[in-house]
Amino acid sequence: MRKNIVAGNWKMNMTLPEGVALAKELNEKLKSAETNCDVIIAPPFTHLASIVAVVDTNRIKVAAQTCSNKVSGAFTGEVSPDMVKSTGATAVILGHSERRQFFGVTDEQVKEKVDLVIERGMTPIVCIGENLEQREKGIYFDVIGTQVKKALFHLNPDDFRKVILAYEPVWAIGTGKTATAEQAEEVHSFVRKLIASQYGTQVADDTTILYGGSCKPSNARELFSQPDVDGGLIGGASLKADDFMGIITAF
Ligand code: PEP
Repeated sequence: MRKNIVAGNWKMNMTLPEGVALAKELNEKLKSAETNCDVIIAPPFTHLASIVAVVDTNRIKVAAQTCSNKVSGAFTGEVSPDMVKSTGATAVILGHSERRQFFGVTDEQVKEKVDLVIERGMTPIVCIGENLEQREKGIYFDVIGTQVKKALFHLNPDDFRKVILAYEPVWAIGTGKTATAEQAEEVHSFVRKLIASQYGTQVADDTTILYGGSCKPSNARELFSQPDVDGGLIGGASLKADDFMGIITAF
């Protein structure tokens, strides 16, 4: 059975005291909430260890927003998978469109990062998604299919089962423009079929595929009600505990 998950990507927001305060607030609210999903938060690197220390990590998993594709060495400014793991974080977002767009991250690098993150016993949350031009040209299945195959299809079935996927149409990220539930379902179901073609229907059925892109309390329920949408990767709306809780409780 696949898991429902709501994950918050804080991006480059929040000072350390602000981030710790938000994590504590969320931790408190979750104690008394009826929920039907796992919760992940992805603060900046600088906050990971402090946040792991103040949340119940059985209830809130802590993730990094990226990591290096290198193990160690002369890579100034990079943060290795081992460093992430040593903070107590248990997952890493990989291939987010902002990393691809602004920092030149390639599918090949995402693949290398996926391997290192799995080797370290952490969970890769792998982002895929088309930009507006690709959507308008009608080539989004090709784009997404290529991203999935290049980053993940070298994995054996056991390792593939450790992956969480996040479909994030780039045109919907931070734009206030959400994909309709039908648009999200169309891609999620395509991705699940693609996984089935490589790993079989059982693995495909067990894979969690999140939707990301201007998801908020007002649209989460409709998106999450789609058969192949197993939760959300949430940017802006994860920065306020009430909004994030509104999405978590949408299940
Ligand atoms: C994201 O960047 O992962 C994201 C989904 O952002 P937002 O919710 O702000 O669109």
